[in-house]
Amino acid sequence: MRYPHIPWLPLLFYPALPVAAAVGLLLWREWPPALTLIVPFVPWVMALIGAAICLMYQRSQTMALMLCVLVATAVWPTLARQAPWALGPALAWWSLIYTINALWSERSSMLLDMAARIALMAAGAAVIALIGKEGLIDVFGTLALQGKLARLGVPVEALVALLATGLTLTLLLLRYGRPQQAGQWLGFVCMAWALPRGAEHPIELALMSAAALTALCISLAHEGFHMAFRDELTGLPGRRALNERLQRMGRVYTLAMADVDHFKVFNDTHGHDVGDQVLRMVASQLRRVPGGGHAYRYGGEEFTLIFPGKTAAESMPHLESVRRAIEAYQMRLRDKPARPKADQVGQRRRGGARGGRSSRPLRVTVSIGVAERGDALRAPDAVIKAADQALYKAKDSGRNQVCAYGARRRSGGN
Ligand code: GH3
Ligand code: MG
Ligand code: MG
Repeated sequence: MRYPHIPWLPLLFYPALPVAAAVGLLLWREWPPALTLIVPFVPWVMALIGAAICLMYQRSQTMALMLCVLVATAVWPTLARQAPWALGPALAWWSLIYTINALWSERSSMLLDMAARIALMAAGAAVIALIGKEGLIDVFGTLALQGKLARLGVPVEALVALLATGLTLTLLLLRYGRPQQAGQWLGFVCMAWALPRGAEHPIELALMSAAALTALCISLAHEGFHMAFRDELTGLPGRRALNERLQRMGRVYTLAMADVDHFKVFNDTHGHDVGDQVLRMVASQLRRVPGGGHAYRYGGEEFTLIFPGKTAAESMPHLESVRRAIEAYQMRLRDKPARPKADQVGQRRRGGARGGRSSRPLRVTVSIGVAERGDALRAPDAVIKAADQALYKAKDSGRNQVCAYGARRRSGGN
């Protein structure tokens, strides 16, 4: 599995499958009558599956978003028939609720969390019902823009709310790039398209709502996978993913262990936050290793690279180039530390340079040990052990270099 540099981009494709299926069905010319009977039940089935997954993972946020989608789908046709004047404000409220739920992080008690979210949803519906037709026309009817935007078929208050939600969810996706955000974004897009048309096209609404619920479900399952296999700090696949990959390697592969040099001193001098930034930088360089290599975070400041189908001799130049790239990289510190005061005190106690954090360019180096699978090293554990021995040799020989297991020659910057 190769992980691209824009981590959130592929996340959109997994939930995009059900959406594409829904759009395909909508465009299907000869719509079988039986489908018209089945489709209204599909969102309920998806919601049931989704609710089970949410309970299993204790995810009240996704549960609330699914409830948002399901309730809107269920009440929309009735609302359109009995209180068409409420559609605009209801859509605006729905959009606002979706945003609040997406931004509102979960609390420890799922029951209380869900109760609060449901109360919020109900409060908006109650307010709309209480204000009533005359009141809503008083509030929204006075907006000067309404006449112009009415041609779009979406009331202005709903349009503003939908755009604001779309923007917020896009920013969340760009900022965090997790499967969860991709699912929320896609679920919203489906509903933002289908709800304004829902009054006239109930089947389309049901299909898009099923797609939205499926997107939320899949993102939840993917989030579980993500949490188990990805390292939080660096975004690289973690030790579990490495172990799983090593079970599926062919007869020929090379494995390298990379370890940041003098990282403890670096942490002590510049603080843990800067240390974390270094690990992210090293990870992003290792991820770009050429030659078909895959990078994993083994643990702490140690990383593993595997080159399927390559011998150690073939992998060495690629490892050498990544070692050089890390050596040449000048760190620019992004933010101030989260605990600036504590960090300054710590730095003074440790005798670090005052104010020197951002004035000096920071560099780090890595040492790399390499071993290839062979007759003497068959099991993955044996290959890792051999790469570790080569790593010790690289450290002993002065660090910042690549050493191969069993080889006397070494290449490196020292
Ligand atoms: P050597 O060149 O021999 O590898 O020296 P070293 O100081 O890098 O080796 P050592 O294994 O003693 O130090 C590893 C340090 O890595 C210790 C720990 O504080 C730090 N570390 C491990 N995980 C993290 C992390 O997630 N974030 C930060 N900031 N530091 C970490
Ligand atoms: Mg170490
Ligand atoms: Mg180290």
